[in-house]
Amino acid sequence: MELIRTIDALNRWKEAKGIGPSDLGFVPTMGALHEGHLSLIRKAKSENAYVVASIFVNPTQFAPGEDFEKYPRPLEEDCVKAEAAGADAVFAPSASEMYPAGASTFVDVASPMKDVLCGASRPTHFKGVTTVVAMLLHIAGAGKAYFGQKDAQQAIIITRMVRDLHMPVEVVVCPIVREADGLALSSRNIYLSPEEREQALVLSRSLSKVQGRFMAGERSVAALESLLAGELAKAPLGRVDYARILNFSDLSEMDAVEAPALAAVAVYFGTTRLIDNIVLDPGGL
Ligand code: AMP
Repeated sequence: MELIRTIDALNRWKEAKGIGPSDLGFVPTMGALHEGHLSLIRKAKSENAYVVASIFVNPTQFAPGEDFEKYPRPLEEDCVKAEAAGADAVFAPSASEMYPAGASTFVDVASPMKDVLCGASRPTHFKGVTTVVAMLLHIAGAGKAYFGQKDAQQAIIITRMVRDLHMPVEVVVCPIVREADGLALSSRNIYLSPEEREQALVLSRSLSKVQGRFMAGERSVAALESLLAGELAKAPLGRVDYARILNFSDLSEMDAVEAPALAAVAVYFGTTRLIDNIVLDPGGL
C-alpha cells in the first residue's frame, strides 16, 4: 500500500497504474480509523478494483475551541489498518497542500440543511465539510465515494452537493457500525471516562425506543421527539444538544412521519459531543 502526501504524487500513482474513475473507490476520513471507517474501505474494495482512503483533519470544519488540535492522528497505525481492510493507497495531504496560501473559494449548501441538527451548534462546520469534500472528490477522481450513515446530515448534504454541482461520482452511504452494546463507533469515544462511556448508551437506546414506538404505529413527531428527550434525560452526565425528527430528504420539519424521516440525537459528555441516528421509514414496514 502506498502512502501519498501530495496531489501530484496521487496523479502519478493513478497514471502509472492506469486507474480511471470506474476502477476507483474513494473513502474520505479524518483518520484514527476504527471499524466504522474500515467497513467503508471494505465495501469500496468489494465494488472497485482500487481504493484510495484519505486521511485529513480538515481545519476549516472545526471552529475555534473545538478539538482540532487534540484530534487523534495515529497515521502509522491507520495505514496498517487501511491496508488490511483493502486500501491500495492512503492520501494524507498537509493543510498547505489542500489550502494553498490565499485559498479563498468555498463550497456551501443553502439553509436550512446546514443550519439544523449539528449545524445549529457548529454554524461553520458544514461549509468546511462541503469545501474539503468537494476538493477531495475532485482530487481523487473516483467513480464512487463512500460515506457513513453515522454522519447522516453530512451524507445528505454531500449527496445534495454532488447532485447540484453535477459531480461525476456516485455517493454510497453505508450503515452505522456499533459496539456490541450499541454505541456507535466514533474516533471521539476515546475521550469518554468509564462513567460517561456507560451513560453514552442513552443515544442508541433512545433511538431504539423511538423505532419501537414508530413500529407500533406512532406517527406524531411531537410524541416521538418527547420520547427521545425523555430517554436521553436518563443520563445525568449528558447534556442534550438536540433530539429531532426531520424529513430525511432535506431535513425540513414535519408534523407526522408520513415520509422517510431521520431521528437524530446529539449529546455532550463533558466537551465530547456524540451523535447517532436512525431512519424511520413508513414505507419500509
Ligand atoms: P470521520 O473520520 O469521522 O470524518 O469519518 C469518515 C467517514 O467514516 C464518514 O463518512 C463517517 O460517516 C464514517 N463513519 C464514522 N464512524 C462510523 C461508524 N460508526 N459507522 C459507519 N461509518 C462511520
